Amino acid sequence: MSIAPSLMTVTSRITAQAASPEHPANGVERGFVDLQDVVLAAHRLDALAARWPERKLLNVAVLRALLLLVQREPGQAEEGFDAWAIAAAVGTVIGRKWATGDTRDEISAKVRDQWQRLTSQTWPKKEEGIHQHFRDSGLNLVPTLSREEGGGQGNPTRYRFRLQHLPESDAGGTEQDEVGTVASAVSGRAPEQDVPGRDARVTYICEDVEDASWLARSFAQGFQLAGWRRLALRSAFILGILTVALMALLIPLTVVTTRSPGDIANAVFSAVVFGYAFWSTLGTLLMLHRWRIALAPWWMQSVDDDRLVEWRCPPRHADKSIKAVRYAARCPLCGGKVVACSGGMRHSWRIVGRCEEAPAAHVFAFDHVLREGNRLL
Ligand SMILES: [Zn+2]
Repeated sequence: MSIAPSLMTVTSRITAQAASPEHPANGVERGFVDLQDVVLAAHRLDALAARWPERKLLNVAVLRALLLLVQREPGQAEEGFDAWAIAAAVGTVIGRKWATGDTRDEISAKVRDQWQRLTSQTWPKKEEGIHQHFRDSGLNLVPTLSREEGGGQGNPTRYRFRLQHLPESDAGGTEQDEVGTVASAVSGRAPEQDVPGRDARVTYICEDVEDASWLARSFAQGFQLAGWRRLALRSAFILGILTVALMALLIPLTVVTTRSPGDIANAVFSAVVFGYAFWSTLGTLLMLHRWRIALAPWWMQSVDDDRLVEWRCPPRHADKSIKAVRYAARCPLCGGKVVACSGGMRHSWRIVGRCEEAPAAHVFAFDHVLREGNRLL
């Protein structure tokens, strides 16, 4: 399906032809990206960033400032923008002046600092969701950020926003989209048959877990199963299992030694309480290598109870880790937000996608590998 080689950096054409509106975005086929695509991509990404929980952070403001500049002067995107242009645009984004009154060196240091945070902290967390968003909107291009160190007086450091063809592993989306189109075409052809929206299908997008507690934060960032972390998790499991086993052992011991029904009841009760406490705290994580995805335990949840834990390992992922995630989609029936959560009584032991507008009626299957699901009735 993909025409251009994967991971090929695509350069925006700053030619007279690209600048003229009579030549629309057919440049993609030749491995080039039109300026219109660059503007569209910057606009889309800005709309996404405006909804991130981190949108108040300065490094996101720096990103949005760059996107603003790209939309204003797409021809300049390839070459990049200098720190002073970005600092001035940050003022527009946050609605108050930023880094004014500082010397040029101070301004460029501030921008560099925020850029560092953006590319090392915020962007890696968002990248997967951004890729998926772009893929699902039918573009086979994804945005990338880069910085070119300047040297000398007339050659300042430049910050760039570019479009790149989707990596091969992500490119499965085109097929999925086709299936989606076919499904809707089928449902469009036979509207008189059975329930409306029966063939409705959702495509999930992986979102990060926001404002996690300190304990859950390392899982929100992906808990690498290596080194001390692996050891810590294993120790917690062993400690928990030993405690529960000890409590269970107390039951026959009490039966033999005291023979008092009250003490025996106490021993049973405490064994049950410890067992339940262990299971609800660590049980999911203990079973995760087999289940692959499950509802996150209570201490990772927030009010909505829609956090999941995912077992990630090669070859699908670079390394072995446990990651707390959220999967969301747009409801094809009403446009509401579909969130992957517990299947409840009706779909017990399953994770399903429920529409926030109609949680009992608009229910979809959830497949975390394909990230899609048909309507469940
Ligand atoms: Zn709905």
